[in-house]
Amino acid sequence: MSNNDLMEKLVSLCKRRGYVFQSSEVYGGLGSVWDYGPLGVELKRNVKDRWWRDMVSRPDIEGLDAGILMHPEVWVASGHVEGFTDPLVECKNCHRRFRADEITGDQCPICGVKHEFTEPRMFNLMFKTFMGPVEEEAAQVYLRPETAQGIYVNFLNVLNASRQKIPFGIAQIGKAFRNEITPGNFIFRTREFEQMEMQFFVKPGTDTEWFDYWRNERLEWMKSLGIRAEKLRLEQHTREELAHYAYDAYDIQYEFPFGWQEFEGIHNRTDYDLGAHQKRSGKKLEYFDQSANERYIPYIIETSGGVDRLMLVLLADAYREEEVEGEARVVLSLQPKLAPLKVAVFPLVKKDGMPELSQKIYDDLRSRFPAFHDESGSIGRRYRRQDEAGTPFCITVDGQTLEDETVTVRDRDTLAQDRVAVGKLSGYLAERIG
Ligand code: ATP
Repeated sequence: MSNNDLMEKLVSLCKRRGYVFQSSEVYGGLGSVWDYGPLGVELKRNVKDRWWRDMVSRPDIEGLDAGILMHPEVWVASGHVEGFTDPLVECKNCHRRFRADEITGDQCPICGVKHEFTEPRMFNLMFKTFMGPVEEEAAQVYLRPETAQGIYVNFLNVLNASRQKIPFGIAQIGKAFRNEITPGNFIFRTREFEQMEMQFFVKPGTDTEWFDYWRNERLEWMKSLGIRAEKLRLEQHTREELAHYAYDAYDIQYEFPFGWQEFEGIHNRTDYDLGAHQKRSGKKLEYFDQSANERYIPYIIETSGGVDRLMLVLLADAYREEEVEGEARVVLSLQPKLAPLKVAVFPLVKKDGMPELSQKIYDDLRSRFPAFHDESGSIGRRYRRQDEAGTPFCITVDGQTLEDETVTVRDRDTLAQDRVAVGKLSGYLAERIG
């Protein structure tokens, strides 16, 4: 299977099973926005919940949910108004626009005409809108291009309210918007996406140590989601690649079907952000260390991940095509803890009281586990649907169930079938889902 095929198959499975739909599809779609369907939204929620719990359950991290719209001065101070730009060129023949650094050959990638591009001009990636009823420049605001700034401008509020001491962090999950010139690769690069960002405030001089710590923590966290270690790597930014605010930066990369690409960044942002906001707002954003009787602007270590990109990592990593007893099967081998549905319940046949019994088992289980009841089609088809959906366990009620109150539980990955007493199902599943 070629890598292009894999992406196509993944997009098609995501639509078929209700993970991801194209936005506004009945109107022909909006290319750079995707909607999460019934299973997609559950997977996304499981990922975000896991991140949130693992961050905010720490005694040294607090949560925050700042607004998407912020005072426009925030984006002047952060450097986004001036510098959040990509060089844009336009093909003079077909009028398609590209990021200048994406034009590698001497031909337009769309129409094939040679060397007919406009001079690059800097294009700001922030979406603009107006606040209030008057559409004038004074009322212009931006849709945030990152969640981080909401954390920086609330640094003192959180510090004072939570009575934390440095070192401590603030975590936030929320939407961000970037008017990317060339979005693409499904949910990899979109114009509307979600970020999970944590900003860790430290004493200057301890930043390198904390940077190493968080880089390692985040890589281990990715592995704890079941992502194959050989598909993960850390890449340090070169001096040329470093953003204006960063002293040091690493990307956590995954080997996507279209190559190694970043899906989370760990950055040592120094005192750049708080320093810039202090200067522009005229408000002191310093920390006072009582025990040392010292005042300073903290350094910030940032871990910044995209929820949607992580979703693509999880889906691509879990996708398998196998042959079982001469038949092809497609399976999403998602970690049971993350899988949207944990269990499906089937009657082997639609008679002899089996549907009623399986319905009852389903009703008993669904308050504890996201579950699905399926009576339609052959048993093989029902298994295949659940394999594609990534459901780790399938329970089948059969003739023997009527005699001894046991069912078969089929494991999605090993295909092993266990005979389990109906009364013990809940414990059996809980133990295996973890
Ligand atoms: P890239 O180089 O791919 O544009 P970036 O270096 O600009 O990404 P950051 O600003 O560090 O990315 O953003 C942190 C994370 O937010 C990224 O690792 C990614 O997971 C996510 N992200 C950024 N831009 C997008 C986008 N357009 N669509 C989906 N996720 C995004």
